[in-house]
Amino acid sequence: MLEYDLTWRAKGACQGLNPDIFYPDSEENCEQALSICKTCEVRIACLNYALESREKQGVWGGASARERRKLLRTSRRSA
Ligand code: SF4
Repeated sequence: MLEYDLTWRAKGACQGLNPDIFYPDSEENCEQALSICKTCEVRIACLNYALESREKQGVWGGASARERRKLLRTSRRSA
């Protein structure tokens, strides 16, 4: 089983916020989470984690689940 360094999470702009913001009921309702992620100093670490661990739900690193699927498809094609 892979182990991830998750120390970056303590610096996330989402710390202490309602997690529901980051798990909206649809892709179309991600705007609030995306705008918070834009201000986050650990956005890249968060996005990398979500991509590597294949997080299927929610907004991570400024990308919705659909956007992350797209990123993974693109990276597989160019590999
Ligand atoms: S990028 Fe977004 S989801 Fe990730 S830690 Fe920062 S605020 Fe939270």
